[in-house]
Amino acid sequence: MHYAKNIGLMFAVFLSSVLAFAADGNAQTADTIYRGGDILTMEGKSPKYVARLAVKDGKILFVGSASGSRKFIGKDTVVGGLNGRTLLPGFIDGHGHMIQFGKNLIDADLVGTPDITDLLARMKAHVAKTPPGAWIVGFGYNAKKMREARTPTIDELNQVSSDRPVMIVDSSGHLGAGNSTLFNLAGISAATPDPEGGTFSRKPGSTELLGPMEETALNAVRVRRPPFTGALADSVATGGAAAWARYGHTTAQECGVGLGNDDIDIVRNAIEKQLLPIDLYVCAKDSVTDDVINAAYAVDKAYNKTPEGTSDKLLAARPDLNKRYINRVRLGGIKFWLDGSIDTAWFTKPYTVNPPGKTGAYTGYRQIPDDVLDAAFDKYWTTNLQLNMHMNGDAAADQALNAIEKAIKKHGMSNHRPVFIHATYLRPDQIARIKAVGAIPSFLTASLPPAGDFVLKLWGPDRAARSIAAKTFLKAGLPFSFSHDAPVSPIPSVVGLVDAGVNRMSASGIVVGADERISPYDALRAVTSMAAYQIKEEKSKGTLEVGKLADLVILDQNPLRVEKTSIKSIKVFETIKEGKTVFRRSEP
Ligand SMILES: [Zn+2]
Repeated sequence: MHYAKNIGLMFAVFLSSVLAFAADGNAQTADTIYRGGDILTMEGKSPKYVARLAVKDGKILFVGSASGSRKFIGKDTVVGGLNGRTLLPGFIDGHGHMIQFGKNLIDADLVGTPDITDLLARMKAHVAKTPPGAWIVGFGYNAKKMREARTPTIDELNQVSSDRPVMIVDSSGHLGAGNSTLFNLAGISAATPDPEGGTFSRKPGSTELLGPMEETALNAVRVRRPPFTGALADSVATGGAAAWARYGHTTAQECGVGLGNDDIDIVRNAIEKQLLPIDLYVCAKDSVTDDVINAAYAVDKAYNKTPEGTSDKLLAARPDLNKRYINRVRLGGIKFWLDGSIDTAWFTKPYTVNPPGKTGAYTGYRQIPDDVLDAAFDKYWTTNLQLNMHMNGDAAADQALNAIEKAIKKHGMSNHRPVFIHATYLRPDQIARIKAVGAIPSFLTASLPPAGDFVLKLWGPDRAARSIAAKTFLKAGLPFSFSHDAPVSPIPSVVGLVDAGVNRMSASGIVVGADERISPYDALRAVTSMAAYQIKEEKSKGTLEVGKLADLVILDQNPLRVEKTSIKSIKVFETIKEGKTVFRRSEP
């Protein structure tokens, strides 16, 4: 009885194989078939595993059972044993700065510096390595965590060099300081007023520069840095991309092209020399949007066979989303900064405890006037360029929602999917408005471990408990992504985001907002399928489905099968972009 049934089953399998060949000839032979470990498709709201995944010509050819995969095995097919590892869709960067990160690899590393003496020593050691004519730049200190709990002064930085420009930028990228030569070169003096949305710190009782700079004041100086060109520009792109691939990304972001005056040229250089192994979604910094669009149009003209019409027409003519990328780069959006960071977030209600140096009913920074954002939504709401807005406080979210609601009133609803970058604190009443306009938060989950205690103190327990409201969004059926914002986070670790979203553990061991913890599976959705939706690439990326790109990551353990507290120690074993290995771990 059993025997007869098996014969029947075998015959059915044999018949379907024959039919597959009959219909498609030998064209259906896979390049690679993965097996021997968990293959998690990330399709749907609960985990779904398959036994085999087949890849051909950089796309997914088959997802399913062992028997179903057999017909795709040809003489050249590599059957790849996962050896108990876990295969997932490649990670998609919800918000980060791959080019800025690549630049920082060229600067002095100030991450983890314990005090000003150590910081100055690292900067002095960097002077000899810096080519003549180049600024001496250090990145990544955290003043709050240094012994002196303050930023170095102009006099201290003059000790690094008395005749070359010296600049330091903290790990948030929003704060920094310079020496006398730097300020002279930038034309900033005691007589210079503070720009809107920023400050140059002054010596007590005078207007003399103290050295530290915040927000737009720092940007005004930073844009004067001489450009990275030639081999330096190459290594910015390749170094950044290698770091992203190492942490499992197959799609990266540079959401702020134009922060540096050489960014556009660095990205164009990467396109022209085909330097990038993974996709890069680019956002133009608000102030240089026209320059970036012109550059993107020039690239379109150079690379497309039909260079007539506008960029939008060209995009419309190529509905297959992954083809929007030209040599792995596409202009996806525009970036606006609406407020500051944790100690400068723009709130409707004052800080619970004022950040150091702030007095009165302090409610943080507004970075741009309403009419600027209103005009941007009026102009771009119905285009292919997504508006990405940096915001930490609820007043900044109100500003964004007001602007979007005005655009909808005038132009009607569109599939714009505006991105609320960080969206760290949203009031409960803002969730329904976010749903109505189709906005998507990209939560800075990476900030929970290093900054959770600080948020708890400054913002108070209520705002801290509601911060990074992942569970609230899940319950409301709304998409979101998790992001690291590297180099704001010192490394672009995606596994770290999954850990932070699941555990929400601060540095001191406090669970910040226990009710907003989500399952490991949902946390993985925030870096795969929901992140793909955020950048409007869900048709080609984010899940393991037939016809999608073979963008894959292999982890040494399955985040769904380990203790939740052990997720952070999971390592990326291999990253595969359209069927090609772009990172493989060599050390254990
Ligand atoms: Zn950012």
